[in-house]
Amino acid sequence: MKKPGVHQQMEVEEKLREECGVFGMYDLDGKDVAASIYYGLFALQHRGQESCGIAVSETNGPKGKVTSYKGMGLVNEVFTGDELERMKGDIGVGHVRYSTAGASTRENAQPLVLNYVKGTLALAHNGNLINAPELRKELAYSGAIFQTTIDSEVVAYHIARERVKTKNVESAVLNAMKKIRGAYSLVIMSPRKLIGARDPYGFKPLCIGRRDNAYIITSETCALETLGAEYIRDVEPGEVVTITKDGIKSDTSMCLPKEQQARCIFEYIYFARPDSHIDGVSVYGSRIKAGRFLAMDSPVEADIVVGVPESGNAAAMGYAMESGIPYGTAFVKNSYVGRTFIKPKQSTRESSVKIKLNVLREAVAGKRVIMIDDSIVRGTTSDRIVKMLRDAGAREVHMRVSSPPFLWPCYFGTDVPAREQLIAYNRSVEEIRQMIGADSLGYLQIDRLKELVNGLDICQGCFTGKYPMEPPEDDIRGEYEK
Ligand code: SF4
Repeated sequence: MKKPGVHQQMEVEEKLREECGVFGMYDLDGKDVAASIYYGLFALQHRGQESCGIAVSETNGPKGKVTSYKGMGLVNEVFTGDELERMKGDIGVGHVRYSTAGASTRENAQPLVLNYVKGTLALAHNGNLINAPELRKELAYSGAIFQTTIDSEVVAYHIARERVKTKNVESAVLNAMKKIRGAYSLVIMSPRKLIGARDPYGFKPLCIGRRDNAYIITSETCALETLGAEYIRDVEPGEVVTITKDGIKSDTSMCLPKEQQARCIFEYIYFARPDSHIDGVSVYGSRIKAGRFLAMDSPVEADIVVGVPESGNAAAMGYAMESGIPYGTAFVKNSYVGRTFIKPKQSTRESSVKIKLNVLREAVAGKRVIMIDDSIVRGTTSDRIVKMLRDAGAREVHMRVSSPPFLWPCYFGTDVPAREQLIAYNRSVEEIRQMIGADSLGYLQIDRLKELVNGLDICQGCFTGKYPMEPPEDDIRGEYEK
């Protein structure tokens, strides 16, 4: 007989991965910022767990002096108290990384620090450029020597080159933005300025905050909360903000009409932390809405609604609110999963220590269960989760997914696998239901996506194959390693 209580363990399916998180800070009172950047990165750890780094400088010190440190691993593994103590500077940028373009190595960790005639530039980038291979080739033929295989270096080079011709660094950033195409949220440190830039489509989030007399530019508002900083506003898609001793300056000359903007909807569905707000929309609120829509559009009679942790939980709550079916907890996740969870190469994933998810038998035995997850990518775990619930005594298992079926790759920094590996490719919902062994299966409808974000303009390329800009002909991910 099976023991009551915690029931069974399994390896969690590799989820989609976000590429990076960025954090920049400038303390106008001259206080050191490294420790605050560390805490900021810690709050952004969910955006990338392979490598991280911090670069700081003193705005009153010699122009070319930057202290930087980066390494493979989680923020609290890479940095020690001594390391942070050594990093003196009132301006700095930091980065957490998961790689989709460029190998997972220490050289490819960010921030990138570049020395050039105008001093130094440190840059942290979130996103993927679609024309990086061409730009890189162009630069290489004109004599550039690359130290990394990441497209962020292409951005840094372009800014440095433009800077020689322009009156200030923010104009150089704007000129570089005219050449690079794709998704990018950047924080850049020049000797005397902190700059934030968001691509004209606004794929990736970027926001501005302030604590006392220190300004912050970062990927998510949760990092501001962690530092006790006040949220000022989001950086507009296409906007370049410059923070100097005189405060914030803005340039919106690269902004597109609103209807051309294309925020990655997956930030709301899965990537971002639920306590963040992006462009004025609560991530948690949009997940609750997704659950409500699932309850409206794919209703089913059941005894309990449960979420697959973590991002399925809010959607499950929304489903429960809308349907009146009680919300419950069916899964216990091991919180100490660490780095083994994220290694991007298939082989390392397979050899990694198993990630553990347990089912609470008491919660589901004898019940008709609605289980909500944020996505089904390859489908390799959904069937196991369904089976776990059944083995724990669930009478029926109905799966609801808080995103539409994935059918197309992403070129903008999300690690969607090749089409052939996507379970929804060439299969009907009924066929997928049979494969995962659920009693019923329902996905979020595509026309609900915009409603999740109060009508903001979004990218939905991985669901529809219609991208906000012409995608490259080939899959460019990992191009430089080929
Ligand atoms: S294709 Fe999908 S994952 Fe990629 S940016 Fe667009 S919505 Fe996000």
